[in-house]
Amino acid sequence: MKVFISADMEGITSTIKWDECNPDKEFYRYHAGQMTKEVVAACEGAIAAGANEIVIKDAHGPATNIDITQLPECAKLIRGWSGHPYSMVQGIDNTFDAAMFIGYHSSAGREGNPMSHTITSRPLYIKINEEYGSEFILYSYVAAYEGVPTVLLTGDKMLCEDSKKIHPGLYTVSVKEGIGSSCTCLSTEKSLRLIKENAEKSLKQDLNKAKIELPESFKVEICFKEHNYANKMSYYPGMKKLDSNTLLFNTDDYFEVLRMAHFVL
Ligand SMILES: [Zn+2]
Repeated sequence: MKVFISADMEGITSTIKWDECNPDKEFYRYHAGQMTKEVVAACEGAIAAGANEIVIKDAHGPATNIDITQLPECAKLIRGWSGHPYSMVQGIDNTFDAAMFIGYHSSAGREGNPMSHTITSRPLYIKINEEYGSEFILYSYVAAYEGVPTVLLTGDKMLCEDSKKIHPGLYTVSVKEGIGSSCTCLSTEKSLRLIKENAEKSLKQDLNKAKIELPESFKVEICFKEHNYANKMSYYPGMKKLDSNTLLFNTDDYFEVLRMAHFVL
């Protein structure tokens, strides 16, 4: 069994502020260690369910956060950014049996995480077909585009609740609950146990039933915090300007959503 894991940092158990996710800051190393442990817990659960090949995309900041020396032998780690629009799921293709998302966070426009955002801090909100557009939606849709079911999501409570309706076979682990600039975080011991247990359970389900069909068309609305940036991005091919801060992009091809997100956000 072949499993793809994408890992971010703002939705791991321990982080509540940007400095903790920034390699140049004092306490970063501790939180990067926790990110690694959460990825390893998911790998252990996957291996217990029969995974013998795991590809992990380090998908936060410079993408050099995960400690490769802690990973199991059957894992490969993709570090850095290639520039491909698959971005946080670079490396996924139709040879994988399942996809997992670890350490993901609430989207721009949602208050479930002190660091809620989508790709960058430029958007006030993004909506894809009227739903708030989280990084989880953007990249779990890539898995679906490749025919791969998304089976596990770990992150803040609001993201987990927002995301269950998208994927029928999704197991979630809410490792923290954001309230304003604060979070109530599980003990790391408990979150690691839950991640491992749910990773295993999520792969033991009927994976064919966990697959989704992508919507036939995509209506992407982006409201930028800065009107001058919105004006500049309104010149992206196919983009419509709705008002001073808000743009609209329509397409039937999901890859064009990714290409747009790659250049505009
Ligand atoms: Zn991140």
